[in-house]
Amino acid sequence: MSIFCIVDDKHVPIYRIQWISRTPHFCGEEDCCREGWYEIRLEQGESVWARNAEERDQVIRAVEAWHQGKMPDSDESSW
Ligand SMILES: [Zn+2]
Repeated sequence: MSIFCIVDDKHVPIYRIQWISRTPHFCGEEDCCREGWYEIRLEQGESVWARNAEERDQVIRAVEAWHQGKMPDSDESSW
């Protein structure tokens, strides 16, 4: 299983994801180019942006699958 998921045409390591926005971005800034996108926060204050709820949900599923793959009975030596 890949440790990467694709967000906005970038391969993002799943283990770097801190949180995923539940609602579309809105900040009221006139020149904001992320309005309606979903923020995916990474470590060190970086963010990537999912274009729509579908892309965001794919990331959530990838994170869930990754955590399940990390259960103690999995073979750690294959890392
Ligand atoms: Zn904004």
